[in-house]
Amino acid sequence: MHTPLCWHAVGDPVDLAAHAVAVGLDEIGFSEHSPMARDDFDDWRMLIGDLDKYIASVERARREFPQLRIKTALEVDYLPGHEAWIRELTGRHPWDYLIGSVHYISESWDIDNPKKLSEWKRRDPWEVWSAYFDRLTMAASSGLFDIMGHADLPKKFCFVPKQDCAPLFERFLDAAKRADVAMELNTAGLRKDCKEIYPCPQLATMAFQKGVPITFGSDAHAPGEVGADFAAARALALAAGYRETCRFTARRREMIPLE
Ligand code: ZN
Ligand code: FE
Repeated sequence: MHTPLCWHAVGDPVDLAAHAVAVGLDEIGFSEHSPMARDDFDDWRMLIGDLDKYIASVERARREFPQLRIKTALEVDYLPGHEAWIRELTGRHPWDYLIGSVHYISESWDIDNPKKLSEWKRRDPWEVWSAYFDRLTMAASSGLFDIMGHADLPKKFCFVPKQDCAPLFERFLDAAKRADVAMELNTAGLRKDCKEIYPCPQLATMAFQKGVPITFGSDAHAPGEVGADFAAARALALAAGYRETCRFTARRREMIPLE
């Protein structure tokens, strides 16, 4: 879940936690868009100087809702060459987990940014998906992350290749398995043009067959989105073959049965 510190989400952690209690969740996690080494990299993430404020705001929610397990985490952008910075961030706080996400397939194109839709229109979807999955595979292999975020994000605006994407999925999942990284089922896709959970059923099923564990996320950017469509995500997990999910505490994974 996100907070106003990334400039494109609403609701403080206390408000999101209140909603989580109202919808019957017993554990939630904040994974704000992590700062880049330079604050002027883009305009949709937490600033370096706000890290302490972020951690304090999550701690406030934890104090107000002792009945909820609340995790402090980050959604970290993976770009090749940023590894040293990511390691530094990782060392700044005892995070519960790090979600590794690819949004950028070059230094300047974040493919899920609605302001850059025109770029999609100039590109071949296969070329974009291939570049994206190359990076996602590198991110999974890097050993920097506990969970890979929204694995098939390039489908967001419905620019989908005609080619069979199974080989891209397979390479990514093999890397995730080797590095022992989990993959999230992220319901935000249902709120986008693609109207489908990230990842698609094919990728979820392949992940189960490869033995890649899953987590559940609503990627909430507002209190009303907390836990959104978790019944659909659970159905997707079960259909893919999963009977377990997992949680992270201080970056240690614990398997739990999917009730
Ligand atoms: Zn966001
Ligand atoms: Fe993301």
